[in-house]
Amino acid sequence: MAITGTQMAYYVICHRKLWLFTNHIFLEQTSELVADGRFVGESTYEKRPERYKQIELEGIKIDFYDPKAHVVHETKRSDKMEPAHLAQLKYYLYILEQNNIPVQYGVLEYPKLRTTRQVVLSDEDRSTIPEWLEHIAQIVSRPKCPDVIKKPHCKQCAYFDFCYVDEE
Ligand code: SF4
Repeated sequence: MAITGTQMAYYVICHRKLWLFTNHIFLEQTSELVADGRFVGESTYEKRPERYKQIELEGIKIDFYDPKAHVVHETKRSDKMEPAHLAQLKYYLYILEQNNIPVQYGVLEYPKLRTTRQVVLSDEDRSTIPEWLEHIAQIVSRPKCPDVIKKPHCKQCAYFDFCYVDEE
């Protein structure tokens, strides 16, 4: 099963969210897409230089790959979910490497915050990511949805009403 970058990010954010999304229960809201930064590429960076290429392979879609510098750029609006952003970007680096596409490092960019972070794929990542993929496959194939996680970021999640319907 091909795992997308979004699924990898949801794996870090919440296993329940990963399960719901993968099992085609979509309750996405524009506000959450913005919060996740998935619209940044269509606004802030719409005038990116033409040297950046889009790559699609093994279920992932990388919007900004620099084929000369061999660098992947990933833009997000907010750094609130940075661990998920890091996992997603490292996953992209991993898939490129697995497919013999030259890649030096990734750059995680928060244009609204005017910050960037260089991300490299370590040997530890190379052994951990296959474990993540195996765990993701196990989670999404479960017949039952994982439990609610009761974290502060649930309030920003599109599934909030669905998850907390029985609570006041
Ligand atoms: S509301 Fe919370 S428990 Fe429910 S899917 Fe979202 S993050 Fe997970």
